[in-house]
Amino acid sequence: MIIDGKKISQEIKNEVKLAAEKLKREKGIIPGLAFILVGDNPASQSYVKSKGKACEELGFYSATERVLATISESDLLAMVNRFNNDPKIHGLLVQLPLPKHIDEQKVIEAISPAKDVDGFHPVNIGKMMIGIDTFYSATPYGIVELLKRYNINPSGKHVVVIGRSNIVGKPVANMLVQKKEWANAIVTIAHTAAKDLSYYTKQADILIAAVGKPNAITKEMLKPGVVVIDVGINRIDDPSSKTGTRLVGDVDFEHVKEIASAITPVPGGVGPMTIAMLMVNTLKAAGGKI
Ligand code: NAP
Repeated sequence: MIIDGKKISQEIKNEVKLAAEKLKREKGIIPGLAFILVGDNPASQSYVKSKGKACEELGFYSATERVLATISESDLLAMVNRFNNDPKIHGLLVQLPLPKHIDEQKVIEAISPAKDVDGFHPVNIGKMMIGIDTFYSATPYGIVELLKRYNINPSGKHVVVIGRSNIVGKPVANMLVQKKEWANAIVTIAHTAAKDLSYYTKQADILIAAVGKPNAITKEMLKPGVVVIDVGINRIDDPSSKTGTRLVGDVDFEHVKEIASAITPVPGGVGPMTIAMLMVNTLKAAGGKI
């Protein structure tokens, strides 16, 4: 089975749109999401553009502040503070990475936890860790939601996560280990210190790859029937494509799909879920829910 993140993310966005209309009708609230984009990193520009488009599609209010990469840390913190105090704005997102002269963690911590729809603030990470309802960061949240909507119940299953970043590996492992009906898994996190990665991957009932390397996970490393969630987004050369490149995940999709019971493709798997869950978080920050 191919897990269709594009389809599920569209379903979620449709639900968010309806819930936003209800919020406006009943309480006069329009969910508002602000973006701060520092510098001219093309990937960051494209991410912010897609998120802005999603706001338009769902009837959200959005505001984007584009500032030069030379902005001082104190001016950026003042801008964050302005949005923290703007009643039209329910969610605030500072697109990362930031230029080297700015302390990224300081900026994340300056965002009001109540508006931290990226779920990166230590307060929200701490709440997630101890199992209190909060803003889950969008990519791990999207993975959990994909499993839920495909009726893949992680309870009692061995989930093996490859990668321990703060935005994917660690939070998804933390979410799935919670004693909740949508989680309750036995979780292992592996990373570059693993001497034999296959030792871990072969035990996975559900394998989550968040490595950032094409073909990091091959068919020989997995057991038949495994569910594979491929988070990786890697651009590789492909002379047969118009642009000369194409996107692939961390998993050797063509071969792994022969033995997996379910697998996410790249593109069209976890990727589209990220923006959908950001919209869910913004709706929630505004007081709505799907
Ligand atoms: P990251 O910060 O670079 O972390 C990669 C992790 O993989 C690290 O923990 C690293 O271990 C581990 N790793 C690397 N090579 C390994 C190997 N050979 N064996 C075992 N572990 C290995 O990356 P990230 O931010 O988590 O992102 C991971 C991938 O997901 C990237 O391709 C990224 O583009 C993609 N991504 C996709 C979305 C989406 O919306 N779909 C969102 C975020 C990220 P160490 O800690 O030991 O170095």
